[in-house]
Amino acid sequence: MQNRLIDLYSDTQTRPSAAMRAAMAAAEVGDEQRGEDPTINSLCARVAELLGQEDAVFLPSGTMANEISLLVHCRPGDEVLADRSSHILNSEGGAPAALAGAQITPLPGVRGVFTAADVRAAIREPSRYAPVTRVVSFENTANFGGGTVWPLDVFGDAVKAARDGGCAVHLDGARLLNAAVAAGQPAAAWASHCDSVWIDFSKGLGCPVGAALAGSKAFIEQAWRWKQRMGGAMRQAGILGAAALYALDHNVDRLADDHRAAKALADGLAALPGVRVESATNIVFFDVTQTGFDAPSFAARMLTRGVRVAAFSADRCRAVTHHDVAFDDMARVVEAARDVLQKERAA
Ligand SMILES: *Cc1c(COP(=O)(O)O)cnc(C)c1O
Repeated sequence: MQNRLIDLYSDTQTRPSAAMRAAMAAAEVGDEQRGEDPTINSLCARVAELLGQEDAVFLPSGTMANEISLLVHCRPGDEVLADRSSHILNSEGGAPAALAGAQITPLPGVRGVFTAADVRAAIREPSRYAPVTRVVSFENTANFGGGTVWPLDVFGDAVKAARDGGCAVHLDGARLLNAAVAAGQPAAAWASHCDSVWIDFSKGLGCPVGAALAGSKAFIEQAWRWKQRMGGAMRQAGILGAAALYALDHNVDRLADDHRAAKALADGLAALPGVRVESATNIVFFDVTQTGFDAPSFAARMLTRGVRVAAFSADRCRAVTHHDVAFDDMARVVEAARDVLQKERAA
């Protein structure tokens, strides 16, 4: 297996397993947008319960879940507070401005985690000159923070600060189940305190497509109208819902394996001279600039050794563990990195 590509580009690189495909093939289906797909209906009920919310809606992507949430919470000109590293701010094509007409003000979090004091300092006094601060958006785990899990007390305090300031609370839970598994807490410990919260099925859970957004019945009713408007309403989506249900049954506890592999990788990389690592759960960011490489040239050299990592910026690479890589692969990744550093001294 020496030649098999070890693909750590993202946990989106998983392919549906044979068992997941079998579950998809056997799915009972109906017309999703009429509420007649029994598999989607049971998925939504299950996600609502998992997240401690009244109702849920199935969506094609997490990006749509974030954007629909802002469309429901905000009016054009409103302000959303989110960490400076957040996906909703950096990686959704400016959609909050383009779609909801909302402006995002970045909060100065540390590794994706901000505090109640940050929230209190940012919420504006009512004034005709100022935007209305309408939403505080959280991300757990914090992807570009290096997979950070929000400590429950820090989260609770920041949520309270948001509510005291009259803001809605939104949680981007693309990897909320990673947080839950890592912290040994139910997902609802974070999610039940939110006005809108979603999980992604196409990341560590190993599905090909899908996310589910949860909230109150009134919130989900409004979210449904935006889903319809945006062309996100589906027909026999139970094929996808069956993959998600399969993942909730079989692929949640095993996220701990991804975390163990990421820890081994982070420790191995941190032991290499000049490599600086920031890592938690299944995400490993590492900075190689002190070795003389920039991130793109380091990533390109790793690829020639059968390992794909993402060059995230000029100075940071990202490696993400998932269902389709093994703990034992990590030693090979560290060896490849050592080999690059020893044999290909950068200028
Ligand atoms: C991947 C990701 C998203 C977007 O989810 P998609 O399903 O790819 O649209 C949003 N937030 C975070 C933190 C993510 O990692």
